[in-house]
Amino acid sequence: MAELQLRDIRKSFGAFEVIKGVSMDIRAGEFMVFVGPSGCGKSTLLRLIAGLEEITSGTLSFDGQVVNHLVPSKRGIAMVFQSYALYPHMTVFENMAFGMQLAGKGKDQCRKRVETAAEMLQLTPYLERLPRQLSGGQRQRVAIGRAIVRDPKVFLFDEPLSNLDAALRVATRIEIARLHRSMHKTTMIYVTHDQVEAMTLADRICVLRDGRVEQIGTPLELYENPNSVFVAGFIGSPKMNFLSGPFASAYDAHTIGLRAEHLEIDPAGGVWSGTVVHSEMLGSDSYVYLDIGTEEPVIVRESGTSRHGPGETVRISPAAGQIHRFDAAGRSLGR
Ligand code: ATP
Repeated sequence: MAELQLRDIRKSFGAFEVIKGVSMDIRAGEFMVFVGPSGCGKSTLLRLIAGLEEITSGTLSFDGQVVNHLVPSKRGIAMVFQSYALYPHMTVFENMAFGMQLAGKGKDQCRKRVETAAEMLQLTPYLERLPRQLSGGQRQRVAIGRAIVRDPKVFLFDEPLSNLDAALRVATRIEIARLHRSMHKTTMIYVTHDQVEAMTLADRICVLRDGRVEQIGTPLELYENPNSVFVAGFIGSPKMNFLSGPFASAYDAHTIGLRAEHLEIDPAGGVWSGTVVHSEMLGSDSYVYLDIGTEEPVIVRESGTSRHGPGETVRISPAAGQIHRFDAAGRSLGR
């Protein structure tokens, strides 16, 4: 179990600064997720923590000890990548045991740890197979198993689910959440650009933007109290609706943000009027897309099957207390 401290961490590749002064504390045993758009520096930050890239300036500590110059093998970390990086000629058992054997652990201890990890990940029936005889999801579980047997203090994941199809992603995501519960003493740091993964796995999410921390908080804190248009637009699906001009000035803001579930089609006396341009039925809910005169259509969630079809004019109202207000710089002014 390790507590991490990042203090004004910077990383440049040549003249190009990619990480621009990141500070944060990651608690022992915490599941921290780094999210942000492509190129914001998530993977680079993870690789700096792993020791796979050298920190340009700033300090990184594990349990109070500065590790800036410690090689990866001395940091007590294990990393799982998007590409599983398994040895193709070794069985699942050999792949999982290899690192421990290199570290000089005894045969019995290796076997025991591999068997325990295989049990946790439901890989027991596959221990004698080769990687090519496994599905993508099973291969990624082997990669996770290989990391578990090393008994790391810090577990690092770099988009581990992005090569899996939708159903397997969900199944493996649940597996990882279960793993964190059963390894509750292991600190986990997980990089993804998938905000659903971030919301469902994280104790806390760190939203990165252009090499800087935009906001850190629990999934609900970020969802309910985003401190900027950037975070508000990044967290939550469908994306938050943003309205500006006269829509916002009535609320003394430059821009207002409303989630689809906080808009209601209100025949009796809606505040705004719009034309239905599209509707999506998801079974339990429907999303109705309305042209109310803004650049992009506004999305309204209705429970069950919507009765509103394209071309229809409807009136909508925002839910009281759920209007997020932002200034011209995109900073939150609260609700
Ligand atoms: P993605 O979600 O697309 O993987 P990311 O947020 O993980 O993106 P990084 O991979 O950390 O982003 O890259 C951040 C920036 O650093 C990018 O502009 C990338 O081109 C640059 N970069 C990363 N590694 C190197 C390198 N070894 N040399 C030069 N530039 C690099």
